[in-house]
This record gives sequence, structure tokens and C-alpha cells, in this order.
Amino acid sequence: MSHACKLAAGNWKMNGLSADLEQARALAAAFPDPKCGILLCPPATLISAMAEAVSGSAVMVGGQDCHAQVAGAHTGDISAHMLADAGARQVILGHSERRADHAETSAQVAAKAAAAHAAGLVAIICVGETEAERDAGQTLEIVLSQLAHSLPDGANSANTVIAYEPVWAIGTGRTPTLDQIAEVHDALRAKLPDAAMSLLYGGSVKPGNAAEIFAIANVDGALVGGASLKAEDFGAIIAAL
Ligand code: PEP
Repeated sequence: MSHACKLAAGNWKMNGLSADLEQARALAAAFPDPKCGILLCPPATLISAMAEAVSGSAVMVGGQDCHAQVAGAHTGDISAHMLADAGARQVILGHSERRADHAETSAQVAAKAAAAHAAGLVAIICVGETEAERDAGQTLEIVLSQLAHSLPDGANSANTVIAYEPVWAIGTGRTPTLDQIAEVHDALRAKLPDAAMSLLYGGSVKPGNAAEIFAIANVDGALVGGASLKAEDFGAIIAAL
């Protein structure tokens, strides 16, 4: 079963200054009554300002990571409560860039997701294999293991979204075949604690390939990096949902 309302989530990564809030405003103006959820996850420095810029519109704002603790001596970190206080409604967790650059484990991702839930945020938990793992035939084993260990107790379709993002497809312009995406999404769906949980695909989603990816049965939307930075590109992807 697929989730009824699809989601287009944009991950700005470490990109965006105040002037780029114009892109969020343009997106909000372009989709006054969207048939899917629209989410932008800017760097933490822009969350408050973006939430204000799109206030009253259908565009939601999210964070890209959070700490597992509510507060304390963790210089440079941001808690889920702080994200919520700044106007975020969702938070991306366990992105492969966090898993690689900060050695985040699935256990840490689960702790962060529990913190997100406690703060009232929807956790978007990312899983995905590297190219070497795919070549070794380990894709399903890897993503299902990441899923099992990254989900906190109490995860359900209201508070959690899963994003399948093959590491080798992120920012590379390369995408799996539609059959490969379907195979992983079918396998993930079968192991979800709540079958209605949304499953996003992420990795080089562009206006030109969005429609065919969204047509896959168990794909409930997309997590989009580079193509979410400009309202025109992200808008074309949203229109394909
Ligand atoms: C991402 O970072 O989550 C992502 C999917 O990036 P891109 O769309 O640029 O491949």
C-alpha cells in the first residue's frame, strides 16, 4: 500500500543565503493548493527566516540533522526541539553525507529520530547502498539492515518517512533503473512497521526523470538535492507528482 499524499522534499545541503529565500517564496506562490506535500530543508541558519517567508503557504520547512539530546554541552549541534522552535516540521536524518562525513551509525540515527518524534517533528530517515555494495550484490541486505537499526520505537506513518537514496546516485546524475528502484522500495515496504509509511526515492531526481520515477508503485515522492535549489526546477518535479 502506498501513502495517499505524496511528498516532494528538497535538501539544500550546505547551500543558501538570505537572498535565496526568494526561491522558497516563488515555490509557495507557484503552488497555492498543491496535491502533494512540499518540504524545503535549508541549512539551519535559514530555517526561521524561511518559515516566516513561506508562512501561511503549503510549503513546509525542515532541518537536515539534529542532535539526540534536547539540550546541553554539544557545541555546534542543534536539537530537534530547537528545529521545531525555529519553525521546522520535519528533519532529514541519516543522510549518507552525514553517515560518511560524521560516521553516523544507524543506532545514532534511531536516537535522533526518537528525539525528533519527541519534539513533534516528522523524521525522514535515509538509507542507501554504496556502489561497491551494489556491485557486491548486497543492496537489499544493506538497506534493510539500515532500516531495521535506524527506526526508533514508536515509528509510524504519521511521524516517519523513509528515503531510499543510493549513495552512488546522489549528486552524480546517475540513477538506478526503474526496476532497481522498484525492487528496493518493494523490499523496504515489506519491512516497514507501518505499511502506510511514505517511501521517498532520492538520487539525481530531475524534472526530466521525475514522472517515470513517481509512477513506480511503491514510490511516494522524492528527496531532491541539487534540483531543489531553484524554484523552477523543484516546481517541475512537484508538478510531476
Ligand atoms: C540528496 O542529497 O538527498 C540528493 C538526492 O541529492 P541529488 O538530488 O542532488 O542527487
